[in-house]
Order: sequence, then structure tokens, then C-alpha cells
Amino acid sequence: MTSQILNHPLKDPRRIKSFRESLLAWYDDYKRELPWRSQPGLYKTVVSEFMLQQTRVSTVLPYFERWMNLFPDFTALAKAPEERVLKAWEGLGYYSRARNLHKLARQVDSWETIPVDAKSWQALPGIGPYVAAAVTSISFEQPEAVCDGNVVRVLTRLFANDELFKDGATAQKKLRPLAAELLDANRPGDYNQALMELGATVCHRQSPLCLTCSVIDHCKGGKTGDFARYPNLAKKKKSKQKITRYWIESEDGLLLCSAAKGSARLAGIYELPENLPPELKKVGHDAKPLATKKRTIGQVDYEEKIHRAVLPKRTKITLPEGYRWVRWAELDDLTLSGPHRKWIRELGGNPA
Ligand code: SF4
Repeated sequence: MTSQILNHPLKDPRRIKSFRESLLAWYDDYKRELPWRSQPGLYKTVVSEFMLQQTRVSTVLPYFERWMNLFPDFTALAKAPEERVLKAWEGLGYYSRARNLHKLARQVDSWETIPVDAKSWQALPGIGPYVAAAVTSISFEQPEAVCDGNVVRVLTRLFANDELFKDGATAQKKLRPLAAELLDANRPGDYNQALMELGATVCHRQSPLCLTCSVIDHCKGGKTGDFARYPNLAKKKKSKQKITRYWIESEDGLLLCSAAKGSARLAGIYELPENLPPELKKVGHDAKPLATKKRTIGQVDYEEKIHRAVLPKRTKITLPEGYRWVRWAELDDLTLSGPHRKWIRELGGNPA
């Protein structure tokens, strides 16, 4: 722990008490009404925590509602086939979350007694320290502190902690003991949600609302106005990657492929192919791309050029595993990665 933290007034137990009270009073009055907060239960909490990882609340809301209609509890989710689960997740990205949630539902559904401690939850698929603390504090009032990106931002500003962290995950790990010290063990679930809510709705990355912040009296960064220095995360190097994709049409439909079963990221999710099956490599395609798409995933800027070819009628090709021709009418039933569905809709003029 740095000297800045050791010297901070929040090391005084009375100040910590006052900080917790201010934070919780603000949360009680101003928290957002969210569907997983109304009639909360373990299942709703788990689903929302999985969906909210790396995803904004506004994006999650319609998915959460649809999910609850399709799979209202652990048992319904456990019984659902994987294709249905992935289809319901389509567009949310990071599909390993959906697979892990599905596996977790099967495990929870088979339990006679549900464990309440974070350690047991952390042994489940897709559950790291953050989700384990969130689920057990919110659902079982366990004194477990969460430390996600929002909490890191608030804590580093509160303590004016300018320590250089290699990345967000390192900052979360290093600040977890401090988060645990500040936790209100009487209302751990509400306290955790309050701190995250403050980070999400008041302590914005740019332009935090310090003047109206409920904890300004305890916040070094807010009082001095140099909040922008915190958290001090090492700049990540960006890289660029160019990808060629193919839009191949035949009388049987459009060629799509899905990643092999072992692929954690995209198994079972269809996309426009990057690699053509050997028999199709000989087929000439338009030299000028049909479209060039740009997107950023993590620290990589992708530029994807999509080349088009139309196979002559009655061309018979044996497709290897993972590839298939898809008719327009079938597109709705398949699970496509979000950007690819958008591109197909745009380029094919079809309501996919
Ligand atoms: S006072 Fe400002 S910097 Fe401090 S926690 Fe509140 S919004 Fe964030």
C-alpha cells in the first residue's frame, strides 16, 4: 500500500463509517431501477453479472428481458440446448460467457444445497473473484468486496493513488484489499452495488460529477480537481490487422462457416469465411472488395475486406466440416456473430 493511502483520512474508522453512510444514503435515494434489482434473486443476479462483464447496462437491458422470458430459472437454462442459449446471446459478444453460464446452470441445478461462500462460487465455470464477490455479497450478504473497473476508478480517485498499474486487471487485484477494508459488512451487497453505481453514473472517466458527489468530502482527487490522473494505467500498444473475407454465393445460398468446437470464442457462431475450402480457392472473386469494414476488438484495429464471387449454376462443391450454404430464409434461425449479421443485412439487402 502506498504512503498516500496510509496517510489518507479514510484510514480513520470514523471517517470510513461516515464514507459508507454517505455512499449508501446516496444509493438508497438515487440508484437506477434495473430489472435485476426488482425482486432480486440468485438467478437474476448471476445472469446480470455474466451479461454485464465488458458490456454496458443499456446494451444488456433488452437481452436480459428476453433471456428471462426464454430461461426464467437455472432449471430452464440447464435444460436448454446450447444452440438455443447461443442464439439468445447473439450480438452480446464474448460467447464463452454464454457457454459458461449454461454450464454453471447445469451445475447449480444439480446441487442439493447452494453454497453461499465466494470460494465455492469461484470454482464454477466463468466465475472469477469479481463475479464470486458480487453474487455472494448481493445474494447471500457475504462480506466480500468487489473490485471492477468502476471501483478502481473511484478508489484511486478517493485516495489520489497515482501508482502505475500495468493494466486494469492488475489494478483490480492490487486494490482488492483496500476495497475489502472499506466494505460495509452490514450491507455488503448494497455497498458493492453502490460503489459500482457511483463509478458508472457519477465518477465518470471524463468529467466526473464531483460537485454533486456524495463522497466528495472523503475524496482527495475530487477535492483537488486532478481526478484525471487516476487511475494511472500503462498505455496499451495498439496494433492493426488486415483480414480478407469472402462473400460466396451459389444457388444453394451464401457460404458461412463456424469455428471448430474447441474454439472458446466463436464455436457454433457463423461468420463470413476468412479461409476458403480447397475446392473454392480456384474460384475467382471480384478484385475490388464488395465492402471494407473496420472495427476494434480490445487493442486491435481490424480492417476486413470482403470479396465477392458468384458460383455458376449447378457447381457442385463438397464443403468441409464447419462450412455450409445458407439460404436467406434460414439466416434468422442461425447464430451469427453480431457484426456479421449486420454486414450480411447491409450487403445482401436481406432482413437477416
Ligand atoms: S468526488 Fe469526484 S472523483 Fe471523487 S469519487 Fe466523487 S465523482 Fe469521483
